[in-house]
Amino acid sequence: MGQKKFLVCIDSDGCAIDTMDAKHKLCFAPLMVEKWHMEAHRAEAEEIWNHISLYSMDRGINRFKGLEMTLKECVKRGFLQEDLTDFSSWLRETDVFSNGSLEKRAGREKSPILEKVLDWSITSNQAIAALPLSQAFDGVKETLAFMSGQAELAVVSSANREAVEAEWNRHGLLPFVKEVMAQDSGSKAACIARLMKEGGFDGDHVLMIGDAPGDQKAAERNGALFFPSIIRRETESWKRLREEGFDRFVAGTYRGAYADGLAEEFLEALR
Ligand SMILES: [Mg+2]
Repeated sequence: MGQKKFLVCIDSDGCAIDTMDAKHKLCFAPLMVEKWHMEAHRAEAEEIWNHISLYSMDRGINRFKGLEMTLKECVKRGFLQEDLTDFSSWLRETDVFSNGSLEKRAGREKSPILEKVLDWSITSNQAIAALPLSQAFDGVKETLAFMSGQAELAVVSSANREAVEAEWNRHGLLPFVKEVMAQDSGSKAACIARLMKEGGFDGDHVLMIGDAPGDQKAAERNGALFFPSIIRRETESWKRLREEGFDRFVAGTYRGAYADGLAEEFLEALR
């Protein structure tokens, strides 16, 4: 890296690729309803899940943390009786929020709730794998092509590497990208830090594009700039980046009022 003066980091799920709605609405939420036998309150339980994982400041939250929040809310509303103690302990104590880590703990503790969560997570993976192929949002390819003239592009995603590379390849996006950072590369903040260090980019020359507050935080932690793909307005967001945001970034007029205005719109859509 480093021939170009600018670095653009791009999140994949829900930002460049339209994967979030189908995963949550067709897999995680309905399978949670089945697993916890909440069919009589399906709409309400799914609404809680979708609100937390898609339409709130917690958008992009890890599935297990999202599940704990959702189940707690269902218990609070009185239509679920479930002892979440073992699950909450695991979430507090584990370093890795993965099926593997959960499986180890479930095997050791013989805890019914941990078994249930693991089963839900595995079943969700199978359902996600069986979904129709996801699409890139309109305008992503044009915008990447445009930006790649002046900036190094890198994918910065917390999703599985094979899945990210397959999707970016399928949509013809991979040729514009210098590097793919995925789940196996560490946290998004750490990935951005590494790319900045490798290429010698300073914060004002680095733009992170994302759809979740976690992406914004990863950028901020590195002193980098953030461009939001705003929920339900993704196509418009990519057009705006191509026609306005990127030019400001390169011209050095991004930070300040312009970036603040975008951040405000982004947060407003998640309130
Ligand atoms: Mg995302």
